[in-house]
Amino acid sequence: MNKFISKFFFYYPVTLINGEFIAFYKPFYEKFQHASSAEQSAYKQQKLKNIVDFSKKNSAFYSQSFAKNSDMKSISDFESLPFLSKQDLIKNINLINTSKRRFAKVKTTGGSTGEPVKLFKTADALARERAATWRAYSWAGIGIGDKQGRFWGVPHSRKNSFKAKLIDTIANRFRISAFNLSEASLELYYGKLKAYQPGYLYGYVSAIHTLTKYCMDKGYAPIESIKAIITTSEVLSDKARKDIKAFWDVNVFNEYGCGEVGSIAHECEFGRLHVMSDNLHVEIIDKDGKSAKTGEIVVTDYYNRATPLIRYKLGDFASWSDEPCPCGRTLPVLGGIHGRAYDLIKTSSGREIHPESVIYIFEELQTKYAAFKQFQIVQVEIDRLEIRIIKSEAWKDEIEVLINTAIKRVIDESIRIGFIYCIELGREKSGKMRVVKSML
Ligand SMILES: [Zn+2]
Repeated sequence: MNKFISKFFFYYPVTLINGEFIAFYKPFYEKFQHASSAEQSAYKQQKLKNIVDFSKKNSAFYSQSFAKNSDMKSISDFESLPFLSKQDLIKNINLINTSKRRFAKVKTTGGSTGEPVKLFKTADALARERAATWRAYSWAGIGIGDKQGRFWGVPHSRKNSFKAKLIDTIANRFRISAFNLSEASLELYYGKLKAYQPGYLYGYVSAIHTLTKYCMDKGYAPIESIKAIITTSEVLSDKARKDIKAFWDVNVFNEYGCGEVGSIAHECEFGRLHVMSDNLHVEIIDKDGKSAKTGEIVVTDYYNRATPLIRYKLGDFASWSDEPCPCGRTLPVLGGIHGRAYDLIKTSSGREIHPESVIYIFEELQTKYAAFKQFQIVQVEIDRLEIRIIKSEAWKDEIEVLINTAIKRVIDESIRIGFIYCIELGREKSGKMRVVKSML
């Protein structure tokens, strides 16, 4: 579909019917990305106060849990409020929800940890999230209406699959199923994308990377209409970024978010991860819950009044970057996302190992031997890992020994390692791939 038709005859009218005034918000977001630190700090204080006061009055959960805290007058009052863990959210969801949920959209999220949560998001909060996201896509040279090649899950039920197709048409996108990445499908997808001529690719790192590697092996040419690639939801390793950028010959922009609050940070053209601080307040805390440079990410959503999330602990780890970004935007910058709590590998001696250090072993081996197509590391017991591998033609049995030795060195000599050779790797319900997965 033509970009103009898609934007003005489909995207804007449909979102307007849903009560999402995206076009109305866009100018504010364009401006706020250059706000001074005084403006940002006044904004933050006001928005935090608004959501705290609102939640205290309208949510049974917060009125009880904030009862002992004095009214919010400053950031330090805010920082004395209790944190909200994922378990708190699941347990108290009905008390957290306010009456605004009646007019809000349902969001089911968190399936990847095995504990799905059903929360609500108001049309206003959704519109603001989308306005901020489109602003971030503009950093990649992408606008509303641009054709998208989407690497995502495909709903299993017929009703939901039809709904997904309808939404894809409205949003001008062509969907590639992350569930089906067999060679025959990859061949078909490349052909279909070539015919569809998308302006950009969007979706799960693993799915985009798999197609990229397939096209590289086949010696195919990149598709010229593609101006940028936006990856999301999974850790973007250096190797994946390098391959994707080299083959498609465009920049890769990583997006960081979560189902509960949506989009949190986006990379600009300088590869720095800017926080959408006009929609949410991001804190990084240490083990004692004190503000820190590196630690766990905690978010507060300014605008979602249906299921307010205040000081919500995401279970992801990151650090702040102090350097101003050369792009000139003043939105705060995250130095990097260091992995997710639920993907950490634990040892019986109590150590926690970040997934990246194990992924690195495989990437090193892959650069040297190109012996496998995909891999997944699953911690099945405290002292046992299962390595799932899709072999390539260059596979040699010695690789097993090399993996064994390297993993034992990084994790622990006592860890038991089993190998399973597969044709396909299991994905989460959403279609998301967890390269390192803990079943503990
Ligand atoms: Zn920047």
